[in-house]
Amino acid sequence: MQGRAGRAGRCGENWGHRFRGCGYRFTAPRKAIIDVLQCTPGHLSAEDIYMKVHEMCPQIGLTTVYRTLEVLTDMGLLSKFDFGDGRARYESVNGAGTKHHHHLVCTGCRRVIDYSEFVDDEIEFLERAEKGLSKKYRFEIKGHLIQFYGLCDKCKDKDGKRR
Ligand SMILES: [Zn+2]
Ligand SMILES: [Zn+2]
Ligand SMILES: [Zn+2]
Repeated sequence: MQGRAGRAGRCGENWGHRFRGCGYRFTAPRKAIIDVLQCTPGHLSAEDIYMKVHEMCPQIGLTTVYRTLEVLTDMGLLSKFDFGDGRARYESVNGAGTKHHHHLVCTGCRRVIDYSEFVDDEIEFLERAEKGLSKKYRFEIKGHLIQFYGLCDKCKDKDGKRR
């Protein structure tokens, strides 16, 4: 891959090692998809990713994108989310500029707010919950995904006015 894809490749540096470490090959579609996810903020659906990957590498088909997303999710490089609209969304885990965060999902406009400025008791509560759960289920917890569903300020106002 040359040219445009080469430039975008800057974001995906060092990923080759992680792939080989996991016993996977660092193929062109895998690299292209990681680049897209690393360089695009937000939560992308497979179709969003396909459209962007297609600009760089037109030879990559939608099926390859789906399959690659599964592999990357299995490897723990991507988080897969369901925000309740029937389309899976993907986000790179601890990629460039992505740090651990939780989600506020608006069921009105489907806006997703990422937040990593946790409220005071949140971290303490989670640590306690994880400790309790690992003990109770003899389960080693490696991480968590937290999503709260509700209405954002705009949708809440609309809802209030309608009544
Ligand atoms: Zn968390
Ligand atoms: Zn909303
Ligand atoms: Zn997010």
